[in-house]
Amino acid sequence: MKHQSLQNPRTKYYHQDFSKQHQPAPGLQSKMDPVPDCGEKSYQGHERLHGRKILVTGADSGIGRAAAIAYAREGADLALTYLPDEEEDAKQVAELVKQAGRKVVCIPGDLSNEHFCKQLVEKAHKELGGLDGLTLVAGKQTAVERICDISSEQLRKTFEINVFSLFWVIQAAMPHLPEGATIVTTSSVQAYESSPNLIDYACTKAAIVAFTQALAKQLAAKGIRVNSVAPGPIWTALEITGGQPPEAIPKFGQSESVLGRAGQPAELASTYVFLMSDDSSYVTAQVYGITGGIRL
Ligand code: NAD
Ligand code: MG
Repeated sequence: MKHQSLQNPRTKYYHQDFSKQHQPAPGLQSKMDPVPDCGEKSYQGHERLHGRKILVTGADSGIGRAAAIAYAREGADLALTYLPDEEEDAKQVAELVKQAGRKVVCIPGDLSNEHFCKQLVEKAHKELGGLDGLTLVAGKQTAVERICDISSEQLRKTFEINVFSLFWVIQAAMPHLPEGATIVTTSSVQAYESSPNLIDYACTKAAIVAFTQALAKQLAAKGIRVNSVAPGPIWTALEITGGQPPEAIPKFGQSESVLGRAGQPAELASTYVFLMSDDSSYVTAQVYGITGGIRL
């Protein structure tokens, strides 16, 4: 068996300053410097999701990509959704799922559109031959200094993508989800420790915490568990496409986290796997912080 050497968490992943960089949203992570580590080379599966059929939103890049790679290597078949502009990143994920020997269905589209959310679920269910897990990771974050400068368009889209799409996707999925199915949402440390330039985003992430807790209580009677992951500062396309002001990019994650660096998406994968799998059978209505030490 491979020897697991101890690693200092402060230096385990990239911990230098990032170079200043910006892309228009949603961005391609393959063009980032450094490219986020989503576990492509490191994640090892142990059949913990063998035969599961899971829909992952925001699966092309960042945290959703890390979850998708891990799920495939744990034996799950996947439906992946993302925006059409992200096809290049998504193709890489689809290839990795196939390399893991699992089925992959790619369904690009806009989650702020109710009709697409419903179609997405039906297509995932049909093409996977069932649906027993939802991992809802897609999100929008746009930093704006002053509340008066938040446009109604931004406000609406942020709520539609981050909150409304959860309702639409889960409403469509309910008739298909069997006993034992699991749902994982993606909140944020921003729900608890909100930044002044992310008011709208922080509100949506707090809404996701309430959504997760209420839905878990509602679905417990059906034998369906619902939990959330609350990431801290993670190096992803979200941050360099307007999620942070450009001047905040070089030191992103350094001062706010206890561990002194931004996290990488790969560092969240095993928590998503745990919450999706039977290993977490006594866990529901919970929020798991993966924050580099920032308290929820
Ligand atoms: P990311 O940019 O790699 O992933 C976000 C994904 O959301 C995109 O790839 C895109 O596919 C999807 N998306 C955005 N708008 C969409 C739309 N209209 N329709 C369909 N899909 C859409 O960034 P990430 O950081 O991995 O983000 C994943 C989740 O993690 C988000 O919900 C984000 O709020 C949350 N989060 C991130 C951080 C962080 O520091 N990166 C911290 C806390 C929470
Ligand atoms: Mg992306």
